[in-house]
Order: sequence, then C-alpha cells, then structure tokens
Amino acid sequence: MKKVVILTGAGISAESGIKTFRDSDGLWENYRVEDVATHEAYLRNPQLVLDFYNARRREVFKAKPNEAHRQLVRLEEKYDVRIITQNIDNLHEQAGSTNVLHLHGELTKARSDRNENLIIDIGEQDIHLGDKAPDGAQLRPHIVWFGEAVPNIEPAAKLCEEADFFVVIGTSMNVYPAAGLIHYVPQTSPCWLVDPKAVPISRTIKIIQEKAGTGVKRVVDELLSL
Ligand code: NAD
Repeated sequence: MKKVVILTGAGISAESGIKTFRDSDGLWENYRVEDVATHEAYLRNPQLVLDFYNARRREVFKAKPNEAHRQLVRLEEKYDVRIITQNIDNLHEQAGSTNVLHLHGELTKARSDRNENLIIDIGEQDIHLGDKAPDGAQLRPHIVWFGEAVPNIEPAAKLCEEADFFVVIGTSMNVYPAAGLIHYVPQTSPCWLVDPKAVPISRTIKIIQEKAGTGVKRVVDELLSL
C-alpha cells in the first residue's frame, strides 16, 4: 500500500469553530501566545495557563469534526494514511482517522511537571492547581509549549521520508520544527497544499487556495482516482 503523509495545522479545525491564532494578529483567543503557551508563562502564572487550556479543552469537546477531517478518513480505503498534526484537538480521531501523530501534544492528556514521560489520560477533565501526577508533582497540560523540544519530530521526519504522497493543510508553515518536515519528503513524491492564504513553500507543490472544507475533498478525490 502506498503511503500518504498529511501535515495539518490549526486551519483544518477552523471550520469546526476552533480559532487559529495567526489569523487574528498573533492573538490566540484574545491572549498573547507568550502569556499562555510558554513554560515561562506557566511559571509566572500557572492558574492563567491552566485556565486557558481548560477552556480550550471544553471548546474541543463541544466541537465536531468538519468535512475536511472526514474526507481524510476516506483515503484509508486505498492508502496507508499517516496524519502528522500540529493541533492539540482530537478532531482527526473523532472523525475516525486511525493513525494520528500529535507534534504539539494533546488536550485530553496531562503530564507530570517533573517528568515529561509520565503522561495520563484526562479526557474532558479540567486540570487544577494541586492536582497531582502519580509521582506527586503538579499536573500540567500535555502540550509542547513554544521554546520546548518536540519529542515526536523524529518519528514525524521518518514518516515524511517514506511518503509516496504528501499533503499540507491549514498551516502557515511558521512554527518550527514542524514547518521543516516537508524537506524530508522525497523530491519525486507529489505534494499538495490546501490553505486559503498564500503560504510560502520552497518546493514544487500543487496549490489549492481554498478553505479545507472544500479543498481537501479535491485532493482526496484526485488521490483516490490515481
Ligand atoms: P498555523 O500556523 O497552522 O496557521 C493557520 C493556517 O490556517 C493559516 O495559514 C491560515 O491561512 C489557515 N486557515 C485558516 N482558515 C482555514 C480554513 N478554513 N481551511 C484551511 N486553512 C485555513 O496555525 P496557528 O493558528 O498559527 O497555530 C500554530 C500552533 O498553535 C499549532 O501548531 C498548535 O499547537 C496551536 N493551535 C492549535 C489549535 C488546534 O488544536 N485546533 C488551534 C490554534 C492553535
């Protein structure tokens, strides 16, 4: 089975009602990223950061996958489909995609403040100050904050090296190291980009300048017809 590797960003969830942050002048739900999505912010004001992610988690549990998430599931009829997502929501999983690698963590998980490998499932639950991991340390969101290492970048790069086809959806390609993954894709493997804005990419790529809700179907139809 040929392998389709898909890199998704916040744009794929926009039509499910979850805001991206680069589309609103660098603000994410009216917060500056430096105030809620860095380790320094967490040390300075843990309550604010926990509240922010608790709100994001509640929002995700109210949201439903959209047409773009659903279309990607169709590809599994014919291909070995691997989704690499920068998103912390679980809308790909809710839609039924079976192979999803989260680069920046997941809202439905929490981890020990002291040990990044001690991760627990929390589902819809809020995290409060005083909630403890099994090692006795404070629980924090299982999110890779800006400035932190991205543990899943190596498996993601390996998947990209093995891609027969590569599709990029709804990402400004501004956040590294995720944005560098495309350079691991073999030059001979056809690539597509779905985004309503012009995203600068330095390789031959078929551009579908549309929202994911309509653009992803075009890519999926084309791939299924090959
Ligand atoms: P991003 O850098 O991936 O940029 C958003 C991109 O989506 C832009 O290029 C924009 O043109 C495009 N877009 C907007 N509406 C679209 C639509 N309907 N269809 C297709 N594309 C559309 O994402 P970001 O917002 O800058 O976020 C970067 C990081 O912030 C993420 O990697 C993630 O860790 C976090 N984040 C996650 C979520 C989520 O989980 N849903 C939401 C916001 C931010």
